[in-house]
Amino acid sequence: MEKRHGGRLTEERQWVVLTESTRSDNDGWVHSCGEMILKTTVYLSHRIPQSRIAGDGRVRNVTVPYCPDCELAPTRGVFYDDGRWWIDSWEREAEPVA
Ligand SMILES: [Zn+2]
Repeated sequence: MEKRHGGRLTEERQWVVLTESTRSDNDGWVHSCGEMILKTTVYLSHRIPQSRIAGDGRVRNVTVPYCPDCELAPTRGVFYDDGRWWIDSWEREAEPVA
């Protein structure tokens, strides 16, 4: 099965993967597929709205839950001064062995 991009938010800014998960006994989350949800730190780089690539060098990070079985782990993203941010980079999916 092809993995989807992890780190998606719903319109209400809830993590999509958590809306599909249930709390487990040991303070974690279990995805609908049965796999434990993992967390990863995603680094966001500052961006200036007029420029797709330039920023002032500031970096923020955000902790993102994802399902290692169903999703590619997010790795990097961008943020703007108005608070908007999003993920734009994910780990590569391993090539299937022929
Ligand atoms: Zn899953």
